[in-house]
Amino acid sequence: GEALAVSARVAPLGSRLVLLLVEDLTEARRIEAVRRDFVANVSHELKTPVGALSLLSEAVMDAADEPEAVSRFAGRMQIEATRLTNLVQELIDLSRVQNDDPLEDAEPVRVDELVAEAIDRSRHPASTKQITMASGGTSGLHIWGNRGKLAAALGNLVENAVNYSPARTRVGISARRVPGPGNGSTGFIEIAVTDQGIGISEKDRERIFERFYRVDPARSRATGGTGLGLAIVKHVAASHGGEVSVWSTEGQGSTFTLRLPEARAARDRTAEGHVPA
Ligand code: ADP
Repeated sequence: GEALAVSARVAPLGSRLVLLLVEDLTEARRIEAVRRDFVANVSHELKTPVGALSLLSEAVMDAADEPEAVSRFAGRMQIEATRLTNLVQELIDLSRVQNDDPLEDAEPVRVDELVAEAIDRSRHPASTKQITMASGGTSGLHIWGNRGKLAAALGNLVENAVNYSPARTRVGISARRVPGPGNGSTGFIEIAVTDQGIGISEKDRERIFERFYRVDPARSRATGGTGLGLAIVKHVAASHGGEVSVWSTEGQGSTFTLRLPEARAARDRTAEGHVPA
C-alpha cells in the first residue's frame, strides 16, 4: 500500500488515476478476504454446537431405557443449545453495530443506569462464583449515544470480568468525567471495569479485540464465550467517537476502559429540546 501511495504521488496525472484504481481494487480484495474468513469462522463456530447436539440426541435415543443417562445427555444438550443461542445473538449484535449509525438515535444516556444494567446482566454467574460486584462515581454522568449499544458494550466487559475471574474475587466498575481540551468543550466519560482474574499477556492484548480471537478457546467455550464480545465493544466505542483500551497483569487481573463522549446540557437542549435528568 505504501509503495503504491508513494509512486502515485510522483506519477503524472494519468497514471495516478490508474494507481488509485489499483489501490481501490486491492482494498476491495482485502475486504473480500476478510469477509470470506469471517464466513468460514462463523460456519466453523456454528458447526461445533450443532454437531454436538446431533451426537447427543443420538445418544439419548440409544439410552432411552436408562433415565439417568438420558438426563445427563439432556443437560449437555442444554449447554450446547445455550452456546448456539449466544453465538446467534452475538452475530446479530455484531452485524447491528457494524451496519447502523449508532448516533442516528443518540440521546443522553445515564451512566448509573448503564452500570446497574450491566451488573444485573452478570448477577447470576457472579453469585454462583461468589464474585462481588461494586460500582462508584457513576452518578450525574451522561454519555451521548445509543442506549442499547452502550448497554451491550458495557454488559460484555462486565460479563468477561466475571467469566475470566476465579471464585471469591471482586469486580469493580468506576466512572469519571475527563474534561475536554478547551474551556467549555465537550469532555469524555470513562468507565473502567476492573477484575482480579487471570489477566491477559501482552501478545494477546493486541489481538483480543479481533472477531473470534480467544486466548484459550476451550476455557472460553466452557463459559459460553463466542470470541465476538470484544469485537462488538470495539465497534460500539469507535462508532461513538470513543475507544476501548486494556491494561492487564497476567495472573493478577485486567482493567478495560471505555472512553465515550459525554452528553452536556447545552448540547442536548439543542439536539433534543430538553435537558437530561
Ligand atoms: P469470549 O466470548 O471468548 O469471552 P471476547 O471477544 O469477549 O470473547 O474476548 C476475547 C478473549 O479475550 C477471551 O476469550 C479471553 O481469552 C480474553 N478476555 C476477555 N476479557 C478478559 C478478562 N477480563 N480477563 C482475561 N481475559 C479476558
